Amino acid sequence: MRRYLVTGGAGFVGSHLCDRLLDDGHAVLCIDNLVTGASHNVAHHADNAHFVFCYHDVVRPLGAGDVNGIDGIFHLACPASPAHYQQAPISTTQTAVVGTLNLLDMARAQGIPIVHASTSEVYGDPREHPQTEAYWGHVNPTGPRACYDEGKRCAESLCFDYHRQHGVAVKVARIFNTYGPRMQLDDGRVVSNFIRQALQGEPMTLYGDGQQTRSFCYVDDLVDGLVRLMNTPDDITGPMNLGNPGEVSMHYLAHLIGERMPARPPLRYLPLPTDDPRRRCPDIQRARKQLGWQPRISLEAGLNLTLNAFQKRLAHHLRASVL
Ligand code: NAD
Ligand code: UDP
Repeated sequence: MRRYLVTGGAGFVGSHLCDRLLDDGHAVLCIDNLVTGASHNVAHHADNAHFVFCYHDVVRPLGAGDVNGIDGIFHLACPASPAHYQQAPISTTQTAVVGTLNLLDMARAQGIPIVHASTSEVYGDPREHPQTEAYWGHVNPTGPRACYDEGKRCAESLCFDYHRQHGVAVKVARIFNTYGPRMQLDDGRVVSNFIRQALQGEPMTLYGDGQQTRSFCYVDDLVDGLVRLMNTPDDITGPMNLGNPGEVSMHYLAHLIGERMPARPPLRYLPLPTDDPRRRCPDIQRARKQLGWQPRISLEAGLNLTLNAFQKRLAHHLRASVL
């Protein structure tokens, strides 16, 4: 049994990672300030002696006593939805940069590996397609997405400096759009928006002409990639793309979700947000080779699982508001 620290463990991806680590027989210290996460995401572990939740903001360093006996860090704490990270952009940058600095200091002091959750946003609005890890990106450093994109780019540079200067075993995962149960109903991301809108009988909001593309990875596949990355030798540092290479337009995504409804919901066209990337698709050769990893769950199957989970959540909300 190993003991892992998961920052952002009460968030969407983090809570699934906690589930997986506990299922594998490990112990988890989950740290979160609940800014975009929720305690109900991890409430099912409340009676598990191997799970500890600690309310903490990663912008402040943790005490050494809090983390003694930790074998590895999964550092996920950071708002991820554009609506969330743009709501408090300065604090997003602080979390991405200062938070990562604090976790790297901890990894260094404890001599333990750290998996850092970076993002495909480091590629910005890419000029190379699909994106390999060798591509340096095309990011607007002053736009409304910069707090997240540049924050994560700076965090990556810190990871590699801690590796070169202090020998820290860093493992940088560049995560592409991930979806699944426990996304917040109102986080503004496209999968959660479309599914919630369709289930509530509202039009699905399509930004721009809907021809922009993304590549969606089901959360269990992503979590498996993160766990495999943690288990690699110290010289495997990444950066490593983790995502599903199946690229779809937002128009097609709306079609896929619409056809799963009893009646196809109408579309409502809204302006494209500033700096919205036009295309995004991961090249995952590196992950295939170094982790033996590739996504297993098709978009169709993953959307069915997500739809079922959203249906239950909405029914629960409805019951709670009636009572
Ligand atoms: P999320 O918002 O659901 O989860 C982030 C978690 O971090 C939340 O529980 C939040 O409360 C916590 N958090 C935020 N700031 C914190 C702070 N200062 N101190 C402590 N906790 C803090 O987002 P997610 O989709 O689960 O993303 C998790 C990680 O994966 C993020 O680092 C994100 O950048 C990265 N990522 C996610 C995606 C995706 O599509 N989901 C894509 C690329 C990268
Ligand atoms: N999008 C959309 N309708 C929505 C929410 C998002 O058409 O209700 C588009 C958005 O403009 C972007 C894509 O879907 O082109 C993915 O958006 P999301 O916020 O999920 O992720 P990101 O932009 O960070 O990849």
